[in-house]
Amino acid sequence: MDQYVSGETIIQGISGSPGICIGKAYIVEREGVNIIERYHLSDSMVPSEIDRFKSAVTRAKNAHAEIIESLDKNMDQTPNILEAHMLLFKDKMLYDRSIEVIEKEKINAEWALRKVSRKIKLMFQQMDDPYLQVRANDIAQVSDKIMSYLIGAHDTDISEINKRVILVAHNLSPADASQIQLERIKGFVMDKGGKDSHISIVAKSLQIPSVLGLEKASRVIQNDEILIVDGSAGKIIINPDENTLYEYEAKILQFEAYQADLSRESHLPAVSLDNVPLNLMANIELVEEIVSAKDNGAKGVGLFRTEFLYLDLQRYPTEEELFLTYKELAELAAPDPVTIRTLDINGDKVNPHIDPVEEANPVLGLRAVRFCLENPDVFLTQLKAILRAGIFGNVNLLIPMISSLEEIIQVKEIIKKAKDELSRENKEYSDSIPLGIMIEVPSAVIMAHEMAKHVDFFSIGTNDLIQYSLAIDRGNWRVAHLYNPLNPAILKMIKMACDAAKQNHIDLVMCGEMAAEPMNIPVLLWLGIRNFSMNASSIPVVKKFVRNVDLRQNEKIMEQAIQFNDSGKLIEIIQETYKDVLPSSLYLKGGTG
Ligand code: PEP
Ligand code: MG
Repeated sequence: MDQYVSGETIIQGISGSPGICIGKAYIVEREGVNIIERYHLSDSMVPSEIDRFKSAVTRAKNAHAEIIESLDKNMDQTPNILEAHMLLFKDKMLYDRSIEVIEKEKINAEWALRKVSRKIKLMFQQMDDPYLQVRANDIAQVSDKIMSYLIGAHDTDISEINKRVILVAHNLSPADASQIQLERIKGFVMDKGGKDSHISIVAKSLQIPSVLGLEKASRVIQNDEILIVDGSAGKIIINPDENTLYEYEAKILQFEAYQADLSRESHLPAVSLDNVPLNLMANIELVEEIVSAKDNGAKGVGLFRTEFLYLDLQRYPTEEELFLTYKELAELAAPDPVTIRTLDINGDKVNPHIDPVEEANPVLGLRAVRFCLENPDVFLTQLKAILRAGIFGNVNLLIPMISSLEEIIQVKEIIKKAKDELSRENKEYSDSIPLGIMIEVPSAVIMAHEMAKHVDFFSIGTNDLIQYSLAIDRGNWRVAHLYNPLNPAILKMIKMACDAAKQNHIDLVMCGEMAAEPMNIPVLLWLGIRNFSMNASSIPVVKKFVRNVDLRQNEKIMEQAIQFNDSGKLIEIIQETYKDVLPSSLYLKGGTG
């Protein structure tokens, strides 16, 4: 709910990543292939903005005419469709109406075009006539073409942003995030996004404060307005008054002092108070992040999310490209381990150039290993690259989203095929890379005992395990309050996976974001987990905490606390027991509104 305090507006969302920043708003929108900026015009700017729009339409239309001319007119229907598009460039509904919106609403041409084309698309889509529905698609294509000329003409390439602004968006995908190069901005806020969504993971690893699930921030906030992003509390303040600014500037100083304190201690060993060694590794998305992983005291990479290499390209990467990346990572991390997870594309990490099919429920769709098994050549190429990189370091191979034993068997067959091909091609590879599976789908938990007999290690992915077990879309802010890692059902599932690993003498690591929150650590330690992989930026805070936990004492307390089957009670007990060592909420991601 919004609160209005002396001119400033507070909007509560959910925490995407901790930290606080103050800066000017920079509003962007993802539209088709482009990311567009929104800004208001003064009266005197309106005529030139209309000219800019007209000129973009003319250039897009001329380019389109050239395409038509270059085609053989006697061909099939394609030119007819193109001819039809030709008329749409100056269509009253699109052209005249966009000019009208620029004039009346005094907004930039990109935003006006987006607004108008969306409305037309929606209108056509609501009509039953399939012909008219196709027209909606035609309008989308034509408006995309005009948009690309507008953006080119106005030079609003978002990847060029270096103003250290606060980005305000309706929705950004992880692929957009990598295009934008979020590290150049101060912070970001979004209307969409949920707990442990991939966009929040990216923000956390870049240590940029972010607030998600704000519902209407991109409509309420104006360009250049002053914003405070309180990523820890999950709220934003628009046009803060002086007192608020003063209060938050003090909080920023406090936060920075705490960060400095943490980084001084980040290289201390990860051992409990009673000297039990723990293994804290980093989750990374790009090879470059190995530097910050090491700076934060990570002992290797427990999860390398390889899909980011596939999100930026308009094609699949080649075996050689992949091999060189994995080799570099293995060498940089050596002798510490690197766990390379095979492609976890789709779900919320979509590349329309690679897989253009839109699914109604993408997180339940052809995602991760399912996609790889349906596209064995893509899978084989990646596996070959990983096996080859295996000789340059301490590499583990991890398969995401396993939901049945059959999938493991099929994966193993393809691994065998990859090895056979490499041998035939006389390429060197490691024959002894440990094979692990993500435990992130409830059926894998149920079958953990059986699955453990086929693999070398388990990696518990709580981000998806919570999503799939509690039926909560991790990208949906409306159900974010239900996303609770300490839910007794989740703890029971984690215990089942741990028991199965132990009884079958295989290794186990937790790589979900649950491990990045000190509040969750006592119960995970009680469950016997000793290997954790998390966002590199969370390692120092988790390390500082575990260095203050006495495992024997913790065991006794957790043993009792868990009996209540009540996460509220469990949280109370953890907070009371560790009140002197848990970091204050200012330093954590926590706000849910
Ligand atoms: C998980 O699901 O917990 C996980 C670590 O994988 P990702 O966040 O990439 O889905
Ligand atoms: Mg996952």
